[in-house]
Amino acid sequence: MKVLVINSGSSSIKYQLLDMDTDTVLVNGLVERIGDEKGDLTNKAFPGTDKQVVTKMVQPIPDHNTGMRLAIELIAHPEKGVISDMSEIGAVGHRVVHGGEDFHQPTIITDEVIAAIEANVPLAPLHNPANLDGIRVAMELFPGVPQVAVFDTAFHQTIPAHAYMYALPYELYEKDRVRRYGFHGTSHKFVAGECARILDKNLGDLNCITVHLGNGCSMTAVENGKSVDTSLGMTPLEGLVMGTRSGDVDPAIHTFLSRNKGMDIEAIDTMLNKESGLKGLCGMNDMRDIHDAIEKGNELAKLALDVQTYRNRKYIGAYMAVLGRVDAIVFTAGIGENDDIVRRESVKGLECFGVKIDAEVNAQRAKEPLKISTDDSSVAVWVIPTNEELAIARETKNILQ
Ligand code: ADP
Repeated sequence: MKVLVINSGSSSIKYQLLDMDTDTVLVNGLVERIGDEKGDLTNKAFPGTDKQVVTKMVQPIPDHNTGMRLAIELIAHPEKGVISDMSEIGAVGHRVVHGGEDFHQPTIITDEVIAAIEANVPLAPLHNPANLDGIRVAMELFPGVPQVAVFDTAFHQTIPAHAYMYALPYELYEKDRVRRYGFHGTSHKFVAGECARILDKNLGDLNCITVHLGNGCSMTAVENGKSVDTSLGMTPLEGLVMGTRSGDVDPAIHTFLSRNKGMDIEAIDTMLNKESGLKGLCGMNDMRDIHDAIEKGNELAKLALDVQTYRNRKYIGAYMAVLGRVDAIVFTAGIGENDDIVRRESVKGLECFGVKIDAEVNAQRAKEPLKISTDDSSVAVWVIPTNEELAIARETKNILQ
């Protein structure tokens, strides 16, 4: 079975075609700058193999429909493509950011499901409309092919009320569903599953802390295979220090900025989401640039690294208290998979809780899962690469079977 995975953003579409019989990626593509004067499409057929064919197009791409049509033409192109007929695509899996309280698992898309995703737009005003654009286009282009929504929030629907409630007037929850939802669920679930497989445990018996550090960052406490707490909140702003997002701040800072700096709510929202985090502290949001700057003596870059890794450590400690027994800590995503310094600093001082990493092994680079804890560490520490597209494709296939 071949599954097309679509991650539709406001001005971009990421897509992958996967062969689920062999777990291989047949096509990896990105449409960017939709709606701009110059659109951009990069399509990689058989990526990473010696058969790889890269096609780049620069042309106006006025809307998602045009972008997806161009991508599909390349996927089934007689020379540059990977399939001879569109009917080879057995299902389409869509990443949907916010499923609110309506979706606990991936779901076959019907009119009711679309209405429920629409009803959750107030909770994710930037993401859900863009995800719906992708769904509508795919339904038009692949009539009769099952479409499945895989929600970022679904894995976290097992979090108990004492962890998902904010201590705000209760009617805000009753009337407006103000609560913690959590995100990156597909990634946390995937690496927790991989961890169980590697440790040869049933997922239902595994307690672990999954640490997803990319541009967006989040941490999840997984108890007996289920999410019981997570750091992102009602929106993807709470918790850890991210590339451009602040993570936790005193909510009274909003009032301070409004009263003393005359900032309106839009300006504050933009600042917290786009101009804060690592970028806010040192002007850079790519961890590689931050390390280069630290080497050259940039003190703010060092501060940014310290603030991020201290926050990571604090959350790991909190989730150890939540779980009691921790079988493993799992680092994943761009920074988590590649940055040994961030990993080292994030578990520094946790030796007294049984977390010991091997500096030499930690410094190694691997594309495969890597155990970085010492043999006498009572908590195993692993680096496990995430693969959200493969996870979405697997969820899509599973639900259809
Ligand atoms: P996204 O949240 O956009 O999916 P990724 O998981 O791809 O992000 O992570 C992107 C981030 O990973 C980059 O901003 C960069 O900070 C970090 N990163 C990528 N490669 C490396 C590396 N080799 N060393 C350190 N950090 C890296």
